Amino acid sequence: MKEHKIEKNKTDFLISPNLTDYEKEYKFFEWDRVALEFEGLPSGGLNIAHEAIDRHANGLLAQKSALIWLGEDGQRRKFTFAQMKEQSAKFANVLKSLGIAKGDRVFTLSTRLPELYIASIGILKNQSVMCPLFSQFGPEPILQRLQRGDAKALLTTKTLFKKKVLPLLKELPDLKTVILIDADIDENEQVRSWNRLMDEADDMFEIAHTNPEDMSLLHFTSGTTGMPKGVVHVHKAIYNHYISGKYVLDLHKDDIYWCTADPGWVTGTSYGIITPWLHGVTNVVDEGEFDAKRWYSILQNEKVSVWYTAPTAIRRLMRLDMEPLKEYDISALRLIQSVGEPLNPEAVIWGKEKLKLPIHDNWWQTETGAIMIANYISEPIYAGSMGRPLPGIKAAIVHVDDKGEASEVTEPNKEGELALKPGWPSMFRSYLHNEERYAKSFVGGWYLSGDLAYRDEKGYFWFVGRSDDIIKTSGHMVGPFEVESALMEHPSVAEAGVIGKPDPMIGQIVKAFVSLKAGYEPSEELKRELIGFGRKKLGAAVAPKEIEFQQNLPKTRSGKIMRRLLKAREMGLPEGDTSTLED
Ligand code: ATP
Ligand code: MG
Repeated sequence: MKEHKIEKNKTDFLISPNLTDYEKEYKFFEWDRVALEFEGLPSGGLNIAHEAIDRHANGLLAQKSALIWLGEDGQRRKFTFAQMKEQSAKFANVLKSLGIAKGDRVFTLSTRLPELYIASIGILKNQSVMCPLFSQFGPEPILQRLQRGDAKALLTTKTLFKKKVLPLLKELPDLKTVILIDADIDENEQVRSWNRLMDEADDMFEIAHTNPEDMSLLHFTSGTTGMPKGVVHVHKAIYNHYISGKYVLDLHKDDIYWCTADPGWVTGTSYGIITPWLHGVTNVVDEGEFDAKRWYSILQNEKVSVWYTAPTAIRRLMRLDMEPLKEYDISALRLIQSVGEPLNPEAVIWGKEKLKLPIHDNWWQTETGAIMIANYISEPIYAGSMGRPLPGIKAAIVHVDDKGEASEVTEPNKEGELALKPGWPSMFRSYLHNEERYAKSFVGGWYLSGDLAYRDEKGYFWFVGRSDDIIKTSGHMVGPFEVESALMEHPSVAEAGVIGKPDPMIGQIVKAFVSLKAGYEPSEELKRELIGFGRKKLGAAVAPKEIEFQQNLPKTRSGKIMRRLLKAREMGLPEGDTSTLED
């Protein structure tokens, strides 16, 4: 792929970036110094809720907006840090009065309502464990996760409860309490009303001593490669949230920040709830789903300055033939970050052209708890690269041999497994009820991510594909991302998903599923053109030999193309776990 470099100049920045000298910061970084950024509990413990909300509410930021909530119906509500403190204290008291204790799992199943955000903080105050689900999950995925996560309590809405949870109750004997956000009266001993419980609860709550290693969060992975795994995190993870908020999101006190992710996906929790508040920053939450006009209006009307979103959303904006800057004033926006999937070079460049801001890619996983590799506001971008490891993070390319021994690949531009040196604070502490699988993730002193990548001579990491998705064709190893990105350079292509289709002669054939931009129609001629285009860009060995048009590629709810599903369907095999498949 031709390298496209985007330089940064001092004049590019509206305010001075937090990170001005990457190499120096990386070299001299110490986790011990990060500890000084937290106030700690009076008892000496560390609790996320205290650091995110209470300490601001007790100080100068009490009357500042912590949450700006935009309802699907056009409502707009504001909550100050002081109000968030009071409301979350009430909810912590509610949980306590219901006998929900430290370590108990409290699940949430709701659209992005203010109560979801209040409850999350309340759960942490009570030292219970927060377990967010996507509200669009059907009954089966809900049941599976509640069972596997040992749910003690569930917060949801009347409609979601009736439709999805009520029929499951008999299979959930340990689910003690269900709280309905929009109910005014209790239904029975088990099914209670948020309004009534909150009305009666005290608005003062003293957080008990919390050990930094106490469990805070149980998050299920996206299920892109198979059955979602239950990932366990602890309060100490905020060290990484804080640092990535500072260096990657470049948060400053006066920022208005918007993360488009739902808390059902880890990005919506780590960066949609915790990180902005650790920095005392105003957090915008939109209840609605993707809608280009609505999104541009939010950026304009709320004067969003830092925006964290995902490739799927950016590609959806790209496929519309719009000139956003002519129609909207989004001049407050100064930084766009993206995560979740490879960000095609085309998307980075589109941002620079159409929004006057390049899009910054960063990489992490549910397991890593926070951003591990990123492009920084003050550093050049090489479009298509995930960037460089955060200060405090040692990332490497590792090769695991047949005997299961791991060794670091130090030579640049050599593909291998992307690995991290264990010990960063937000590292997952287990896969719930699956210690064996957890232990397998660590080999020879490395955490193996399951992703393949390479590092160039500048130290930038480039994503190749998930190990499972790598295509072996005529003796070549082909990463789907490279092929997808090349196809996206063609003016007709909105999105592409590439798989290896088994072939008796050459192992696998590279096959691409392509969705088209507005104004283009599928045709045999366009197919031939795309195959020719691919050959010119990639060479005959790597280019797709087959193209199939498919307007809606299967995706997870967190917006990732499910290549394993494309493949299973292509081969007529069982689809496997589809609990996270978008409707
Ligand atoms: P599962 O583990 O259940 O298959 P998942 O891996 O998609 O699902 P997440 O933890 O949400 O679950 O996603 C992490 C993965 O997403 C990474 O391992 C990587 O494959 C992909 N990813 C995230 N960010 C990027 C990025 N910037 N570039 C490329 N891939 C990314
Ligand atoms: Mg994964």
